[in-house]
Amino acid sequence: MIEFMDVSKEYTKGVKALKDINIHIDKGEFVFIVGSSGAGKSTLIKLLLKEEEPTDGKIILNNMDITNISNRKIPYIRRSVGVVFQDFRLLPNKTVFENVAFAMEIIGASSREIRRRVPIVLSMVGLSHKANNYPNELSGGEQQRVSIARAIVNNPNVLIADEPTGNLDPDTAWEIMKILREINRRGTTIVMATHARDIVNIMKRRVIALEKGTVVRDERKGVYDYEI
Ligand code: ADP
Repeated sequence: MIEFMDVSKEYTKGVKALKDINIHIDKGEFVFIVGSSGAGKSTLIKLLLKEEEPTDGKIILNNMDITNISNRKIPYIRRSVGVVFQDFRLLPNKTVFENVAFAMEIIGASSREIRRRVPIVLSMVGLSHKANNYPNELSGGEQQRVSIARAIVNNPNVLIADEPTGNLDPDTAWEIMKILREINRRGTTIVMATHARDIVNIMKRRVIALEKGTVVRDERKGVYDYEI
């Protein structure tokens, strides 16, 4: 489903953000990417989203080599991958419903399909009662739930989450994790970069640890680190 084959990324000559990375992620896995600041987590995510190109190596996503595809096909890839960010990135002038609907409009869904599907995903994230509110009327946890609804509304088979709990208090962070766990249970592959030690240690999922651009640990039921 996701494969990094000898992938390296050099932003400036001689400075490697990723060095010969080999990662294989199967359909339905829940994977944490951990590592200190500068380890290469964001670079890995940007390569998957085609926001950056690898300097060397090959990346396979949903059986497609995304390293050498034409620009024309990039929207097609992004459709099969949902993304959630630490800072939510909602459109401030659109309501909750409109924010989620917008993701469907972009791919050309009919208004009938939008009216059917948006309430379903808002109910999945427990926000049916906030459909007509604006983002600035919501708590951080609620805003993140909107961004998750937006990320899954087009039924992606992969969900990428970059520090999704980074701006949230511990209780709210767990609410978000329960939703992500449910999405994963329904079959969506999840790749989540995080600094949340407690969450990683309690969830007991696969952990890939990066250090200075290389994979230093890859464990099936892993922990955040071994320093405590
Ligand atoms: P993390 O997300 O784990 O903090 P990053 O992937 O952001 O790590 O960064 C990995 C390395 O690549 C760091 O040394 C960082 O300074 C460098 N880097 C990241 N983005 C750029 C960029 N756009 N230009 C130059 N160097 C970058």
